[in-house]
Amino acid sequence: MTDAKIIDGKAFAADVRERVRKAVAGLKADHGITPGLAVVLVGEDPASQVYVRNKGKQTVEAGMNSFEYKMPATVSQDELLAKVRELNEDPAVNGILVQLPLPDHMDDQAVITAIDPNKDVDGFHLVNVGRLSVGAQDGLIPCTPLGCLLMLKDHFGGDLSGKRAIVVGRSNIVGKPMFNLLLQESCTVTVAHSRTDDLPGECRRADIVVAAVGRPEMVKGDWIKPGAVVIDVGINRIDKPDGGTRLVGDVEFDSAKAVAGAITPVPGGVGPMTIACLLRNTMTACCRQNGVPEPAM
Ligand code: NAP
Repeated sequence: MTDAKIIDGKAFAADVRERVRKAVAGLKADHGITPGLAVVLVGEDPASQVYVRNKGKQTVEAGMNSFEYKMPATVSQDELLAKVRELNEDPAVNGILVQLPLPDHMDDQAVITAIDPNKDVDGFHLVNVGRLSVGAQDGLIPCTPLGCLLMLKDHFGGDLSGKRAIVVGRSNIVGKPMFNLLLQESCTVTVAHSRTDDLPGECRRADIVVAAVGRPEMVKGDWIKPGAVVIDVGINRIDKPDGGTRLVGDVEFDSAKAVAGAITPVPGGVGPMTIACLLRNTMTACCRQNGVPEPAM
């Protein structure tokens, strides 16, 4: 058996961003509208700072307006909620993202609930969770699972129906929305978690494996059905034997690659798709708020 095709998430994400950039240019030319994305960062977490900086840069590169609000970790929840309400009312802002996790004295869910669901480009508001679970077309879909779905649809030529899929992990931000998206594509979906019996056996039945566990290289090659497509959402930093660290996914890449039909690497697989899908969601939200048809992206 030959090695799996490596799904190039970096190139795929660049393509999504380019399509969004063209759609933004069209929106400006035809309707005089420029989409705007507001990102609110509370505190000084270094990883969040890097992530927010990248979001801002890619938002501007896509031709959108980027608004960044940094608040100290000591800010009260009421002050943060006031900022969210102000952004809800601002017509120049089409998408709002509050970078998570928030400091311990804040209730993440209360803050997400305060965001206008139609500007909730992270797709975490309960209204969007509900829209996704009933298959409503007017929802905003969480960025990481949306990125996984776009790559899967591309691989299968748009049709996933009848495929047997397993999602390993049942988090609200990845596992559960991924389950709903695959179900909507008419896959037969299993959701596995830390209490699942015989996880290797469950995985071996699947044509599509989405791993979102947060455990370095947990899914082994001999858990994979020959020819299956493996989407590795995990981002784990581990120590190298010679010092330093490296990033690995939730799948043992080398052993899985020898069995799978296609696989996403870490880094360079799912990771770059998240911001690309955030831009896509912002464009979608902007079109809906302005009553403009959504361009194909
Ligand atoms: P999470 O909230 O920690 O959820 C992990 C899930 O994995 C839980 O449902 C847990 O089950 C399950 N799990 C843990 N140990 C397991 C085991 N031994 N066997 C089977 N299932 C097990 O994680 P998350 O936020 O979904 O993130 C998952 C991974 O994706 C992390 O590495 C994260 O860094 C990465 N991630 C990447 C992106 C990206 O942009 N590429 C975005 C988000 C997350 P229980 O529910 O039973 O505890």
